[in-house]
Amino acid sequence: MSSETLKIPQATAKRLPLYYRFLKNLHSAGKLRVSSAELSEAVKVDSATIRRDFSYFGALGKKGYGYNVDYLLSFFRKTLDQDELTKVALVGVGNLGTALLNYNFLKNNNTKISVAFDIDEAKIGSTMSGVTIYHMDDMEKVLTELGITIAILTVPAPFAQSITDRLAQANVKGILNFTPARLTVPATMRVHHIDLAVELQSLVYFLKHYGVNEVEELEEVEE
Ligand code: ATP
Repeated sequence: MSSETLKIPQATAKRLPLYYRFLKNLHSAGKLRVSSAELSEAVKVDSATIRRDFSYFGALGKKGYGYNVDYLLSFFRKTLDQDELTKVALVGVGNLGTALLNYNFLKNNNTKISVAFDIDEAKIGSTMSGVTIYHMDDMEKVLTELGITIAILTVPAPFAQSITDRLAQANVKGILNFTPARLTVPATMRVHHIDLAVELQSLVYFLKHYGVNEVEELEEVEE
């Protein structure tokens, strides 16, 4: 993200892609303006939070008019670096990795898995969804050649840390970690952790013990 957006709180920054996707749909449908109530309904974020978030972007909604869709879109595009394609590497082309490879991230944002790595000889050298799978031995070389600084990790958990250490050495700055392993990384690196099994289990638990409304209240407190 560009330096001018650094002051946006992290909770707000996390919602940016959500807003962006919805605004793109509005724009395609030819809508020129949107109210915070409409946005709230669509992205399931309360409208007070939306108004506060948007005030950080310098977008002040006018009463009875709402927000200008074009202004917001160009702000998001710039802030999320959407003018430029961000290439991402995938490490581990198993069941989950394959699903991510086949998933078209480009449909919703300007990121693309451009290269993949594995140790399975049966997969190495083949292409999947137009992406070549290379041997792990070539990872540093290929990442440097392509200037890739973001990686998605979908290897078995016991290998996650040593691969992360190698990624750090290869100048990778961000990891989307789908493995259950908790990673230790240098201060210059950022890890976002997505543990699908834990998320599913916690959804089941919350529904069972708190019901639907209290789940929302708990999320509010986290804001
Ligand atoms: P599959 O059915 O293809 O084995 P899976 O998701 O159940 O899928 P996992 O054992 O979780 O399989 O492994 C995920 C992928 O990571 C596999 O393609 C495997 O070959 C690969 N892999 C295993 N160890 C490593 C490693 N050290 N470095 C890179 N890739 C690895």
